[in-house]
Amino acid sequence: MSILETAKKIIEEGPICDHCMGRQFAKLSTGLTNVERGQAIKLALVMEADATFKESGDEELLEELAKSSQYARKTLRIAGEDEKCWVCLGIFEDLDLWADRAVESIGDREYSTFLVGTKVSGLIGENEEILWSECGITQAEQFKTEMNREVGKLISARTDKEVEFERPDIVVTLDIAEENTSVQVKSLYVQGKYRKLVRGIPQTRWPCRKCGGKGCQECNNTGKQYPESVDELIAKELVEMTGGNDSKFHGAGREDIDALMLGSGRPFVAEALNPRIRSIDTWELEKRINEFAAGKVEVEGLKLVEKGVIETLKSSKADKVYNLKVTFKEPVSTDKLENAIKSLIGTQVHQRTPQRVAHRRADLVRKRYVHNMRLIEKTDEFAIIEVHCDGGLYVKELTSGDDGRTEPSLTGLLGVQAKVDELNVIKVDIE
Ligand SMILES: [Zn+2]
Ligand SMILES: [Zn+2]
Repeated sequence: MSILETAKKIIEEGPICDHCMGRQFAKLSTGLTNVERGQAIKLALVMEADATFKESGDEELLEELAKSSQYARKTLRIAGEDEKCWVCLGIFEDLDLWADRAVESIGDREYSTFLVGTKVSGLIGENEEILWSECGITQAEQFKTEMNREVGKLISARTDKEVEFERPDIVVTLDIAEENTSVQVKSLYVQGKYRKLVRGIPQTRWPCRKCGGKGCQECNNTGKQYPESVDELIAKELVEMTGGNDSKFHGAGREDIDALMLGSGRPFVAEALNPRIRSIDTWELEKRINEFAAGKVEVEGLKLVEKGVIETLKSSKADKVYNLKVTFKEPVSTDKLENAIKSLIGTQVHQRTPQRVAHRRADLVRKRYVHNMRLIEKTDEFAIIEVHCDGGLYVKELTSGDDGRTEPSLTGLLGVQAKVDELNVIKVDIE
């Protein structure tokens, strides 16, 4: 079917605006707006209808066209205006209104890129499909595609910001049925490393075991099991500086609540949700966090990153270096201890899920290597041992043997029950 034949069928379906007419041929020729396509097609159709009228006196097509074209009305010498488009229900007359709504809902947030999305009402979606199947249309684009683009252009002109498809700072959704707009703001991601200088602080927020976070007597109505966490000590200043409403914490693994995290620190990404300000000074943020969390947590090397970094953090199997303070049930000679340590170097440890976490994790056997291990200090009461091992090896159980669930172990090799009293993470190596 030729373009004019298809267009004739479309006109016979009812009054249609230039946008909706042009959109049915959107995939034909570039550098045109759908309005330009629609106007050109309608004009050609009016001329053809006029020719038919002059040849045969048949006014039918001109009369149909008169609902959607001033040129058809002029030819027929009748007054009036275009009737309301039955496809879009006149939405395209309100593009400015939609752009105003969008700009208003973005408000004073800081952003440089945005994208418009449209939630199409049921009726418009149905109208569009009826038109396509009745008229055999194959070169159309969807209503929402045009809506997104045209409102996007208007927002751009009003705000001087750019449309970006991949990772826009802001996504504005036009809800046609509800006649309102909503805004989704991309999180701001800050990467860095943290050291934990005191014991008893968990890495992330823990809801109170008793009330599950609602607040009860047990937790002093805080809803929390522990008054603070590494997460919260870092998040407070981040949320404040970005004007966000909350944050999430992503660590490259975690240390036990009673373990210190020392040395070069553990990599993390702190995510500010719904930020109003994106251009934060990460030096200033680092300074403020270190002031606020002084004596408990230290951060360094803060920088803004993209979301993808979290995946890398979580998936990288980082080697760990631990510093253990070990006590023994019976006295152990330095020689004997050094021999046991030596024989653990380079071995693959078979470790069943430790009893202390078995209720939370599947019971299976993990295989992890001890890369290096050395005795740092030995007194009558305790020994300080450094262990360099694969991430995911439970070093408390490497020491205690966990009733034979970890093989080999320091306890097994010594024949004397050994136990970790204090544990510090010295290093987390991300490849
Ligand atoms: Zn329309
Ligand atoms: Zn509680």
